[in-house]
Amino acid sequence: MRYEAPETVERAAELLGATAEARVLAGGTDLLVQMRGDVIEPALIVDIKRIAETRTVGEEKGGWRIGAAVTGAELKEHPRLKQVWPGVVEAANLIGSTQVQGRATLGGNLCNGSPAADSVPALIAAGAVATLAGPRGRRDLPVEDVMLGPRKLALTPGEFVVSFLLPPRPPRASDDYLRFIPRTEMDIAVVGAGVSLTVDGAGTVTAARVALGAVAPRVLLVPAAAAAIVGSRLDRAAQDRLEAAARAACAPIDDKRGTVEFRTQVAGVLARRAALIALDRARTR
Ligand SMILES: Cc1cc2nc3c(=O)[nH]c(=O)nc-3n(C[C@H](O)[C@H](O)[C@H](O)COP(=O)(O)OP(=O)(O)OC[C@H]3O[C@@H](n4cnc5c(N)ncnc54)[C@H](O)[C@@H]3O)c2cc1C
Repeated sequence: MRYEAPETVERAAELLGATAEARVLAGGTDLLVQMRGDVIEPALIVDIKRIAETRTVGEEKGGWRIGAAVTGAELKEHPRLKQVWPGVVEAANLIGSTQVQGRATLGGNLCNGSPAADSVPALIAAGAVATLAGPRGRRDLPVEDVMLGPRKLALTPGEFVVSFLLPPRPPRASDDYLRFIPRTEMDIAVVGAGVSLTVDGAGTVTAARVALGAVAPRVLLVPAAAAAIVGSRLDRAAQDRLEAAARAACAPIDDKRGTVEFRTQVAGVLARRAALIALDRARTR
């Protein structure tokens, strides 16, 4: 096995495009576990952490650009990001333990291709766009379009995620991500829900995005759940509509960690609770 640590996006894309059995290495918290377990045996590992663009967080066009290889711990320590996107930062910091959060990245969480990945519903609710680079150049793809199913991505051979762009935030806008796990930490989401919303001066929701994790083969953007609360002040009737729309979108698996009925029920509850937290946060911004 060969190991390369290029310093430019172009060189990384060239290396990844030239070898069929190449893998990107970010934090390694999924990749190394899979290699040690003989699940995969890459011929080439391309470590992207020496590429400055993948490791920086900064403001861009009124929004925020986050490098794909920035860790959850680094996001938490950023002086301003958590005020603007608390749900995204908190979701990244639900991943594993303190040790795992010091390694695990947003890019790795998305590209591992798990429908239960914690940061992905938060990124989708945020309206994040992934910037990809490959042998044929760069392109942007909304995060909800990157994952196609378990371990299946829309990335073409040689492409990797360089960064994510979170859109500009109007006043009175915020987000939240909640997950259900059978214990307090170090577990994979049985259900996850991310909600981002904006309210006007009267407290009426003017825009919303709702995303659900672990209830379908990929993380879902649920426009019907967002439509259920836009124009409302998130009164009980709107909450009921939101819960019903979230549940209607669910097509989960049935396993020992949660039945279809349980996951579907919890998806509605978490979507409602996340919306109420996002609303509370938005009112004070
Ligand atoms: C003990 C433990 C607990 C965990 N708990 C959780 C949890 O609570 N919630 C959760 O969601 N996950 C959890 N995970 C899984 C893992 O930590 C996360 O998915 C993490 O975000 C992966 O990021 P990474 O940087 O370590 O990815 P890596 O392991 O480096 O990469 C993961 C995959 O994505 C690919 N990849 C990485 N970066 C890119 C990129 N920029 N472009 C294209 N492909 C890329 C790699 O080739 C690999 O296939 C846990 C893992 C462990 C070991």
